[in-house]
Amino acid sequence: MKEVVCDEIRRFVLEEAGNLFPEAGTPYFDAPLIGFAAADDALFSEYKSVIGEFHLTPAELTAQTEGGDGWRPRTVICWALPIALEIRESNRGETLYPSRAWAHTRSHGESFNGSLRRHLAAYLSNAGYHAFAPQFHPVWREYPETPVGPASSWSERHAAYAAGLGTFSLNDALITPGGIAHRLGSVITDLQLAPSPRPYRNHTSNCLFHREGTCGVCIDRCPVGAISKNGHDKRICRDHVYGTIPKAMGEAYNVPALGCGLCQTKVPCESCIPQGKIAG
Ligand code: SF4
Ligand code: SF4
Repeated sequence: MKEVVCDEIRRFVLEEAGNLFPEAGTPYFDAPLIGFAAADDALFSEYKSVIGEFHLTPAELTAQTEGGDGWRPRTVICWALPIALEIRESNRGETLYPSRAWAHTRSHGESFNGSLRRHLAAYLSNAGYHAFAPQFHPVWREYPETPVGPASSWSERHAAYAAGLGTFSLNDALITPGGIAHRLGSVITDLQLAPSPRPYRNHTSNCLFHREGTCGVCIDRCPVGAISKNGHDKRICRDHVYGTIPKAMGEAYNVPALGCGLCQTKVPCESCIPQGKIAG
């Protein structure tokens, strides 16, 4: 069943028109990376101390779905959609705000990612399983001010880490074998699938700064000083991404959210786990 699920996710990404720029017909995303976490993995409880009590476990989310007292979640299916080369290239030359193609991927590509969440949940339901996307759960909330900065009831990054897709980086993203420039998604289901291994030395080992104290290229890529050797300041980042100028640029680009992603392009981890002196 695992291959069936992977095939369906791949098919949707590679064949659906929603993954294409309407004018150019080129894709937002390349073939997905897919991983599986056990819904009762202890990590999901640990995230309450790492992120906050407001971060919900798969069991808590399931219990609050309609009829959720009648089933137990078994698996969290996660994916990373790597942003296509042409879009990454267009963002490499930017120094303050993202390229038009990047902004469109942030908005319309993410809408497609939402379609994938809905599609997979419906696909599993049609196959006789319970399934839902945490991102669209009625209790999902954004929390703009928390001790760890802006956060929400469900972190796609932390779910992806649990599913073995990558490790965290200095700039607060997730470095997968396909790099750091991607969009993430997940679906919780009672279909039991074997969890993916987490083949990394620790939870930050794909980042050169964390692995061997080198790199730090993302620090200089950030136009507003939101990244330092101490990590990523989510509030400074948010103020840059959602300020008045980005709002006006978003309107000019005809997108609801501009995004940024400068620290995810023209960096050694853009499209791979960077090699350094020390093996990852
Ligand atoms: S650019 Fe370097 S320091 Fe920054 S996240 Fe990537 S590997 Fe880590
Ligand atoms: S940290 Fe935020 S503001 Fe800075 S480059 Fe990355 S996305 Fe842009």
